[in-house]
Amino acid sequence: MPLTLYKKKRKFSHTPEPKGKEKKSGKKLIFVVHDHQASHHHWDFRLEINKVLKSWVIPKQPPRIKGIKRLAIQVENHPIDYANFEGVIPEGQYGAGTVKIWDKGTYELNEKDSKKIEFVLHGKKLKGKYVFIKTNYGNKPEKSWLFFKI
Ligand code: MN
Repeated sequence: MPLTLYKKKRKFSHTPEPKGKEKKSGKKLIFVVHDHQASHHHWDFRLEINKVLKSWVIPKQPPRIKGIKRLAIQVENHPIDYANFEGVIPEGQYGAGTVKIWDKGTYELNEKDSKKIEFVLHGKKLKGKYVFIKTNYGNKPEKSWLFFKI
């Protein structure tokens, strides 16, 4: 199940995060970027694919311009309604810290295979063509991607 790991990592009696609802069909594809002030400040980039939000942790701010490449570590899928989530995850819970929406909008998928996802973002901060490229960098090579504007 696509959200198994998401649910396993959280106690919904202790965190304000959404439990996960199915999305109504026929709407445009969405993306969201969360600013997450956790033990390490990072950005969470989430892209709707197959009715869940595929998610990556990006340790530095996502680039608005060409020429800056960011490492992006893929993490567990999140439910679609997580795109509206902002709040404080309590101390002691997974991802404890403050979550704010940094950018949000719709997108169009141009191309997707196991090593590349190319898309056009229509956000307030992130606009235009972006890509995730699979890489083997770092201590989680199987989950490592590069994210940049093209
Ligand atoms: Mn996070």
